[in-house]
Amino acid sequence: MHANSWSDFLLLIGLRYFIIASMAWLFWYVIFKKRISFRKIQLKFPSNKDYQREILFSIATIFIFSLVPTVLLLTPIRQYTQFYTYPGIYNAHTLYFWLAFPIMYVVHDTYFYFTHRLMHHPKLFKAFHLLHHKSTNPSPFAAFAFHPLEAIVEAGIFPILLFIMPLCKWHLFAFFLVQMVYNVYGHLGWEVYPKGFNKSWIGRWVNTSVNHNQHHHYFKGNYSLYFLWWDRIFGTLRTDYDQAFQEVKSRKK
Ligand SMILES: [Zn+2]
Ligand SMILES: [Zn+2]
Repeated sequence: MHANSWSDFLLLIGLRYFIIASMAWLFWYVIFKKRISFRKIQLKFPSNKDYQREILFSIATIFIFSLVPTVLLLTPIRQYTQFYTYPGIYNAHTLYFWLAFPIMYVVHDTYFYFTHRLMHHPKLFKAFHLLHHKSTNPSPFAAFAFHPLEAIVEAGIFPILLFIMPLCKWHLFAFFLVQMVYNVYGHLGWEVYPKGFNKSWIGRWVNTSVNHNQHHHYFKGNYSLYFLWWDRIFGTLRTDYDQAFQEVKSRKK
């Protein structure tokens, strides 16, 4: 896998979004729709206008995101990052190579939580974040539906990671692939974790689709991305979260 130009990054990020979001949409919103619609977190379905807005702004986000690795990795700025060419010093036989993944998710989760809360500040909300919240009943295509100003904020994780820790192309590729899958899952509209997961020892600390769906529905509380510890530490986890999770997973046809 080689990305040597801006158009390579554009294609990579674009394909990642469209393939993963479209597959989720095809399975949940088309093929299995009839059989599973009673379990949809919000029973109604997004309108065509919602899909159009989500896809249009996601395309703008893809353009913005593609500029970031172009500038950081394909210009002399690269020498100031910690990016290394695989195998380099940390190949797949080193502990660091594998340890880098959980570190990246913890850093991203922290960056996301605090910038997300900042963008909910009344002075910033309209300009940065209102667009994402127009999806009060999000579909998988909402994953990248950001106002360009928010897209720039979200892109900030890329330089942060590259400046603070040694990373190679496989770190970036796998990290952003899993990030996309989890992002699409967060906006899926259905909960895929099993009943009781929210109360389990691991589920208490892991973000779910019900959790982020509540954030879109009510605008308040549940600001997390992958984990729930920041929401729990700062008391921003919605008090009706457990009840909502239980309700969605207990529905009968
Ligand atoms: Zn928000
Ligand atoms: Zn969202």
